[in-house]
Amino acid sequence: MVDAIVVSHQHPDHCLDLLMAFHAFCFRPEPRYGVPVYCPQSVIDRLLAFVEADDDSELETTLDFRPVDDGDLVEIGDIEVTFARTDHSVPTVASRWEASGRVLAYSADTGPEGDWMRLAAGADLFVCEASYQGPPGESDYPHHLTAMQAGAIARQVGAKNLMLTHIPPYLDVGRSVAEAETTFDRQVELAVPGITRKI
Ligand SMILES: [Zn+2]
Ligand SMILES: [Zn+2]
Repeated sequence: MVDAIVVSHQHPDHCLDLLMAFHAFCFRPEPRYGVPVYCPQSVIDRLLAFVEADDDSELETTLDFRPVDDGDLVEIGDIEVTFARTDHSVPTVASRWEASGRVLAYSADTGPEGDWMRLAAGADLFVCEASYQGPPGESDYPHHLTAMQAGAIARQVGAKNLMLTHIPPYLDVGRSVAEAETTFDRQVELAVPGITRKI
């Protein structure tokens, strides 16, 4: 059972699965309509453009799009979710999920600039992107993080646990984890498909 979906930004590796979700909800014997989707307006615009030529598309009745941006707070069940704009090339939101005094934070895609990392302050689990390896500054694209930067940010904001994500499949994930541990100064976890973890 899916209560709601949160998507950080319009890049294909983050939002294209929403079209698959639309089909899975809509085209079955008992369709499910009105599934809340929280995301930047630019995600909504991009998906609507994709189905624009299908004049009978039920995308907007199946997915209940609710645009969010920097500073917004929404409630999903008993979870409070707050958003902050990240340092990325398109409008992107990091998120902080709080329930029963426990906190999960997610960086989304981002570089090291801005104050988005305030959302991860004291988080019980901070899921942070780590697109690159090696010393900060070595990569040529500034709107992603190295593993060492992820570890340094997690330590700076006092996150209790750090889990790396968004590591390209051609990199050695063990090296990314090891590099993040040098700056976080404690054990670092790795996000893998299908993982569940208590917070
Ligand atoms: Zn991106
Ligand atoms: Zn991405």
